[in-house]
Order: sequence, then C-alpha cells, then structure tokens
Amino acid sequence: MPEDRSKSAVHSSPELPANHDNEGGGSSREADHSGFESADTVVVHGDREAGVFDPELAPPVHMSVTWSARDAGEFAGMATGVRPQRFYTRYGNPTHERTARLIARLEGGESALMTASGMGAVSSVLLGLLGAGNRVVAQTSHYMGSTQWFTELLPRFGVQVERVDQADTAALVAAIGRGAKLAMLETPSNPTMAITDLRAVAEAARASGTITVADNTFATPLNQQPLALGIDVVVHSATKYLGGHHDLIAGVVVSRAEILERIWRGTIALGATLGAFDAWLLLRGLRTLALRVERANDNAMRVARFLDAHPGVEAVHYPGLESHPQHALARTQMRGYGGVLSVRIVGNYADTARFVSRLRRFTHAVSLGGVESLAVHAAAMVAGTLDDEQMRAAGIAPNLVRLACGIESGEDLVADLDQALRA
Ligand SMILES: *Cc1c(COP(=O)(O)O)cnc(C)c1O
Repeated sequence: MPEDRSKSAVHSSPELPANHDNEGGGSSREADHSGFESADTVVVHGDREAGVFDPELAPPVHMSVTWSARDAGEFAGMATGVRPQRFYTRYGNPTHERTARLIARLEGGESALMTASGMGAVSSVLLGLLGAGNRVVAQTSHYMGSTQWFTELLPRFGVQVERVDQADTAALVAAIGRGAKLAMLETPSNPTMAITDLRAVAEAARASGTITVADNTFATPLNQQPLALGIDVVVHSATKYLGGHHDLIAGVVVSRAEILERIWRGTIALGATLGAFDAWLLLRGLRTLALRVERANDNAMRVARFLDAHPGVEAVHYPGLESHPQHALARTQMRGYGGVLSVRIVGNYADTARFVSRLRRFTHAVSLGGVESLAVHAAAMVAGTLDDEQMRAAGIAPNLVRLACGIESGEDLVADLDQALRA
C-alpha cells in the first residue's frame, strides 16, 4: 500500500489499495487502518484520546454502574444525548468507549459500540434498524445465531427475509435491487469459507438505499476492511480474534455516528451490555491483535498447503488457496486470508470423528480466533440442530472438519495433522 495515503483515504475511497500479493498470509504492516498510522500502531495506542496527555500506561477499569451529579442541574444533563459515558453503564461506560475507539480506528469507521457478545451486536443492529414490513436480504450461510434471526425471529416480527447464496453475486445484487431495507453479509463464512463480493453488494445497495451490514469476525480488520469497500456497518464477535484468548465474550458494531445512534437505542433496550472488566480484557487482548493475526494467517496458509497435497484429504476450503473457487475475488478485498479453514478428509463420519479425536495440538472445541488452535467436526457440532437435508444445504459434509489456527508453531500444527491423518 502506498506510503502517501492521505488521512481521509479510508473514508473517501471505496477501493482498497492494489497490493494483495499476500500469498504468505499477508502482512498488516502495509495497511493504513487509522488513516494516519499502521494497524500495528493503532492496536497499541488507538484507544487514547487524541491531544490528551494521559500519564497512565495501562488503562483503568471503570467498574461503576452509576455516576453521581453535583446538583439537580448537572443531573438533568447527564442522561441527555446519545451514548452518555458517565450516567449508567447500560447506556455507556468510559472503558467501553476506550475499547470502542480503538476498534473504530482499526476498521476505519467513525464510531463503535460495544456489546455483551457477537450475537448482542447482530441483535442490536437488527432491532435498531428494522421494523415490520421491511425486507431483508441475507446469505444462505451465516453464523448459527444470525441464521436463527433470519429463519425464525425476523419473520415472527413481520420482516420478510430473502436468503441468497453469497457466492452468486448477481443473485445478491438482484435481491437487493428488489427494495431491501437491509442486507446482512458475512465473509468468509462457515463452513466452506465462501466469499461475498463486498464492493459489488455495496454498490448495488447504494443505488437502492439499502443499509449493508458485514460480519467481519473471520477476517478481522487486519485482513479486511468492509467500510473502505463501501459497506455501512461492521459487526464482530470480539470473543474471537479481537479478544484472542478464549477468555471473554464480547461484540462490537462499527459505523457512522448517525446509524450507530439508532443501533444504540436497540442495544439499551435489549440490554446486551458488556461488562466493564471484559471491555478492559478485550483492550488488553487487542494490543497483540496484529501479531496474532499475522501468525494465524501464516499458520493457516501453511496448514492449507500441507492438507491440499495430502492423499488422506479430499478437499481443502481456504480462500488463500488458488484452488478456492473465489480466490481471485478474495485477493481483491482481503490482505490476508485469516486463520480459519475447513477440510474434508477421506472417509465417513466415524473416520472423521476418529481423526479429530487423535489430534493433540489442535484442541477439540468450538470457537476460533484465540491463541490456541481448535478443531471441530462440523457435522457433530450441528447434529441435533440440523437434519440431513439442512446439513447438505449448509454445505456440511459428514467428513468436514473446521480448523482454527492459533499462534503455535506452524510446523507443530502440520506435524499434528500429519500424525492424525496417518493413524
Ligand atoms: C462466534 C460468532 C458470532 C457470535 O458471537 P458470540 O460472541 O459468540 O455471541 C457471530 N458471527 C460469527 C462469524 C462468529 O464466529
């Protein structure tokens, strides 16, 4: 990415720089995430208020739930306005604000709102922006909790949902053109790491006045910045890469202040309030985000290449591989391809269950984005919630395993997969 990128480039240009030659997994060092400093620096300093000297290196945790007023006049002013930071913590909290400021800068957004979980973020967006009679376009493949909104909850509240295969850009664009209030996107998405063309969708949505929302959890702002591609709202499960240690649940919404104000009204009614200490833990985790994502990108690429060449493997789904059907598209909107991939091993459900049980370095657990590498037998995870037909529709084969690479040695991860496949 060019060195001379101007301060406003992130907001004014819908295009990412042309540099996507990131076969090694991608480097965050070239990305200008805040408009004036690289992401590596933003994660360390980006929570500080510009122009304010604060001698404390470690941020404080504001545990107070309520704030006192000196007199009636001050009290009358405390609850007014949007997202007061010193009134009552469900409305806002200075520790939330600090963490939100850093994430907004990383995503190149105007403002951010912390929530109690990734689903708290998704739910706040949908509650804040939608009403009965609205039409929504969503993908056929979403995180399970989001899917529940589209199949169950929104229809119950009189919102019509049209679900479209995210890889079919023409179908997505056409569905948005039929007058959608909101389009929900998620890229890459589980389990086949399918990619949504964010630029094309953003352009179509601008023409029809549709608000676009992208779940950027798998990519992280280090690898992909949807707002710079013209998307209106970004949501994250901060439980994953942003926190990075499998020790907190949190979510975040990033957008323009005007949109965020409407979403915030949904959040305070929903009550998806992040605990102040978890906001602080998240800020602590964010300090190493750039280092962790760089390593996870490299590990996933290495693991993907190893598995791709292994005779015990039927297929590997990773957008960084040339064999991924949307690799060319991924290259135009991602700087690195993330730490998550999925693999279909040669064998049936029982063989796959044995393979996952034999893994020693990959821990057998759900979730992703933490320092530890995790493996999940996808069909076993959804058994009981999806029937065979729904599993097939969601692309979940009985021999599919999701691997979320952590920050261990890539060599050790490959050796672990090798021994499990050999046995
Ligand atoms: C985990 C996840 C969520 C939900 O986040 P929680 O923090 O568990 O509520 C949403 N979207 C994606 C892509 C996720 O991986």
